Amino acid sequence: MLIISENLSEEELTKNVKDFANNLDIDDIGIADVENEVFLVAPPDYQPKNVLQGAKSVIVLLCRLPKGPFLAPNRKKQSLHRAHHSIMKHLDILAARLAGFIESFGYYALTIPAYNPITINKTNPMGLISLKLAGLAAGLGKIAKSELLMHPKYGTLVRLSAVITTAKLLPDPMSLKDICTDCGLCIENCPAKAFDKKGNYLPNKCSRKSMEHGNFVLHKFTPEYLKNIEMIINTTLLEYSISCSVCQEICPINKIPKIKSKTIENK
Ligand code: SF4
Ligand code: SF4
Repeated sequence: MLIISENLSEEELTKNVKDFANNLDIDDIGIADVENEVFLVAPPDYQPKNVLQGAKSVIVLLCRLPKGPFLAPNRKKQSLHRAHHSIMKHLDILAARLAGFIESFGYYALTIPAYNPITINKTNPMGLISLKLAGLAAGLGKIAKSELLMHPKYGTLVRLSAVITTAKLLPDPMSLKDICTDCGLCIENCPAKAFDKKGNYLPNKCSRKSMEHGNFVLHKFTPEYLKNIEMIINTTLLEYSISCSVCQEICPINKIPKIKSKTIENK
């Protein structure tokens, strides 16, 4: 069926987009206006309105991560690795499917993948935009003390991808529910000391600890080296090994459920 976009109101177009996205096997979705002032925190090159010409809206897709890997002490690293990267690939594909759907209405749409490509801004690794800020602007949660997006239902155990589009869609209200208890366990237990005395997050320290690539450990983080690592990661080292998730594991909001098992009786 050919859908003529001029015939659709902003509400109808938003409903079409959300209905399509909700059928894509996601756990939550939110829409932000590109003019939301939250995006101004990012450097200009990383603000959605400067990433896609004529951008009007950012659609953010969210999938939860399983908690089981935290109960597998001998296989935690391997399990986290696959869980994260499987969900991130899933989110990348869904964003591309959604972008195609939006373009069928006569608009442009650009996907923001869950992980790669990375860029190096000064000495910090960054995505094409900050998905964390996009999730905040799109009403998917608040920024917790751990500097992670905290979803009201899934805590910080979530991954995101997004689509920036020239379609004007109805934005969702930003979340008012702050469920971070401010307990500080994430900061106290960070093995990389990736928070300064004021509690500000230091991404470079975190990524050196939490994203293990074979050659990360061999070099000093000079700007020249970081440009090389940007190219290397984006071409050959697509899947970093997750070597730290303490701030997610220790957070009481990401409650590790008591072990439940179901006995199946033989009849
Ligand atoms: S992932 Fe690890 S290194 Fe990074 S902030 Fe969390 S606890 Fe610290
Ligand atoms: S560990 Fe405590 S302070 Fe840190 S994010 Fe979780 S609830 Fe917030």
